Formats: sequence, structure tokens, C-alpha cells
Amino acid sequence: MPKFFIKTYGCQMNERDSEQVAHSLLARGYERVGHESEADVVLLNTCSVRDMADQKALGKMGMLGRMAKDQPHMVFGFLGCMAQARGASLLKALPHVDLIVGTQKFHRVAEYVDKLVTRKNPSAATIETRGYSRLDDLRLSIVDVAEEPGSQSTIRDQQLMSSQATAFVSILQGCNMHCTFCIVPQTRGSERSRSIDEIVFEVRDLVSRGVKEVTLLGQIVNLYGRHEFPKLDKKSPFVQLLEAVHQVEGLERLRFTSPHPIGFRDDLIEAISRLPKLAEHVHLPLQSGSNKILKAMHRAYTAEKYMDLVARIRRARHGIAITTDIIVGFPGETEDDYRQTRDLVEQIQFDNAFVFRYSPRSGTPAAAMPHQVDEHVKHERNQDLLQVVNQSNHRILQRLIGTKVEVLCEGGSKTNRVRLMGRTRTNKIVVFEGDEKLVRELVYVRIEQANGFSLYGTPLVE
Ligand code: SF4
Repeated sequence: MPKFFIKTYGCQMNERDSEQVAHSLLARGYERVGHESEADVVLLNTCSVRDMADQKALGKMGMLGRMAKDQPHMVFGFLGCMAQARGASLLKALPHVDLIVGTQKFHRVAEYVDKLVTRKNPSAATIETRGYSRLDDLRLSIVDVAEEPGSQSTIRDQQLMSSQATAFVSILQGCNMHCTFCIVPQTRGSERSRSIDEIVFEVRDLVSRGVKEVTLLGQIVNLYGRHEFPKLDKKSPFVQLLEAVHQVEGLERLRFTSPHPIGFRDDLIEAISRLPKLAEHVHLPLQSGSNKILKAMHRAYTAEKYMDLVARIRRARHGIAITTDIIVGFPGETEDDYRQTRDLVEQIQFDNAFVFRYSPRSGTPAAAMPHQVDEHVKHERNQDLLQVVNQSNHRILQRLIGTKVEVLCEGGSKTNRVRLMGRTRTNKIVVFEGDEKLVRELVYVRIEQANGFSLYGTPLVE
């Protein structure tokens, strides 16, 4: 059977979508390989959030053009957000592309790949086996970027590695928030949630296969189900879901990402203090510390409200880690606006932050706003803010030296396979030496060193 290679750009939701596609190809007998040079089918699952992500995927597919010439039997496809945003127009510059599939059609990819493989390898046997008699139908590239009702429920299967300790579970697709810088509502469509029963079923299955930690995924994960399901006992559908997943026996840790600050109502704060399996980490996108910029971004909270929320979350669970996303250089951001962001970041002392330079996305309101900020000003603010973030990260990691932390061992360390790695409940990476038998186990580790973004320690035998 043909071999496929899938490369993923962008966020964890894209990673999860790629695993769904891989699962459906494996189920048809395809073999997964780790490099495009070994593959018959090359799929790029794309991201559109920043221009750089677009350019990377386009550049990669451009380079694959030579391969397409030398090996005409191969199939090349674009999947996901950029495929959705650009559709068939991608074929103009990259005519060797055979397949373009948008964000609501991942479940159709295997069927389309099968058709294309057959078209490019038209032996009598394959035509007969797959039942295609009219090859004319299969001569063109396949482009499918249509909407599909119920597509949120199609991201539900994944192949696990033999010792996989953690897994992602997609709980909703799309976003109705329309932040003015963001292309996601265009590429992912409006919010659509899966049912609690379906999600719990998937988590149970993952746990029965050895998974100990799940992360619930969605573009605005804590607004899960707000259009589909009612509040019960003053609890939002998201809190109802957390409670239901929390009950799955054998599940040790529960995480969620990415939430929106406006979705943190009292019921969720209370759930954070009440549900012990919820890990002590919240990723809470700030985007800016200037109220003027937050308003222009359409973020619906103020810097003061954000500060108050951080304080409430920290009160709800002792030692909880808070990480964030920040955009510098949004249109109209003055030196004073940037200062306000910097001051807020210093005041909050985040465990970590992703700092992005604003990247105009065509079709979003911010791209057409006046007073676009010069690239080198964005660069300077980015570097400056990263320093502030690195300092707070460093301080927080240093404080952990000498303490004992619970680590879920995920496997060999990426940089040194002889060592093991895992994460604390606060999502810090810990590297340590130990027996492979510790993989998938909760291990207590005494922290001895902190370096960059990682901790190093020795496991304690209890
Ligand atoms: S909440 Fe805003 S930034 Fe997040 S996906 Fe929705 S529109 Fe984009």
C-alpha cells in the first residue's frame, strides 16, 4: 500500500486534525513514514494565523515541485486553514498540487487520496479493486473547502503510540468572536460543539488505551456548547463537560486550551478550585495591556478586568501557572500603549508567554486599519517583551529548585534519548534519568537545576 507523510504547521488543533487524517489513512492500509522522500503521498496541514506560517507551507510545497516532476505517481495535498482561505487559487502557482481540503472536510481526505493515488497509478488491478471505471472523472485536482454540518464530530479517532501518556481531544470547532486581527473565524467557521457524551466516550477510550492526561481543545474552549446546550444548576456547558470528563476513571490529569478571558465566569473559577484532576495551569491570552488596543482588537475586556481575573484564578488554586499570548505592534500601538503592555506583563509575572509581532491577514478588519506599525518597531518591542517574559520564567523555575514535583513521564527526552522527560502539573518540562518503565507513570522528581525553559532532577523512589 502507498506510504504517506503528513507535516503540520501551527497550533495543537492542527496537530489533532492531522492525527485524524493519519488515522483514516492507516485504517485504509496506508503506511505512515517520517519523511517526504519515502512517501507516495505528501500532505501539508497548514496554518493561516500569521503570514510566516502561510509562507512556510507555500515554500515547502514549492520545493516539492521538483519531486512531483521526478516522481509523477506522487500525490501532493494542502489541508487545513490556508487551504480553506485560499482554495483553488493555490493551484495557479503550484500546479503540481492534487488536493486542497478545507477545515470542515478532514474526514474526506483518505477517500480523496485514494482516488488520486488510483488516478496516478492506474493499473487494471487498482481500477478494479477500487471500482473506478471512468478515469476521466479523476483527472483533475480535487478541491473541497465547503462547509459541512456536523464536521466538529468527525475529529474523534487517533492512532496512539505504544507508550503515549497524553492526548488531545477536540471539543469544538470555529469561533464567533471576530477579534479584528484574527483570520480563524474565516478559516474555521462559526462555533460548533460536540456533545458531552461523545467527548466522554472518546476520553474513556483513550484512557482504556493507557492515556493518563487529556487536553480539551477548541479555539475558544471555555465557551464550549454555548449555542447548543443550556446552563444547568448555573453551570455553563463547559463546566458540565469538565465535571463529566473528570469522572472518567483512570484519567489522572485534565487540561484545556485555548480559553478566552470573557469565558471565565464564577462557575469555572469555582471548578478550578474544586476539580483536583484539573492541572494547575491556565493559558490565558492577554493580547495587549492597553485598553485602547484591546478595544481596537475587539477583545471585550480591559487590562483591569484581566488583572482581576488573574488574581481570582490564583486565589482559586494555589501555585497555578499562568501563561499567555501577546501581540506587539497592532495598528495604532504607540510607545505608551506598548509600555502599558510591558508594565502589565511585569506585574503579572507570567510563567511563560508567546509574544507575536502583529501580522496583517488579508480580509481581517485590522489589516485595513490606519497607523500600521513599522516592522523594526515591532521587532524591538518583541525582543524587549521576550526579555521581560524570560526573566519571570527564570525566576519561577529557580524557585522550584530543591522542591519535589509530580511529573507525568512522556518518554525519551528529545535532546538526549538516554534521559526521560515529562511535565509537571503546571506544564513545565522536566528532564531526568530513569528506567523506561517510568514512561506513562506519575513520578516524583526532586528538581536540581533549571536551564532555559526546562527543569532537571532526580526521580524519588517512594
Ligand atoms: S477568540 Fe479571537 S483570537 Fe481567538 S480564535 Fe476567536 S477570533 Fe481568533
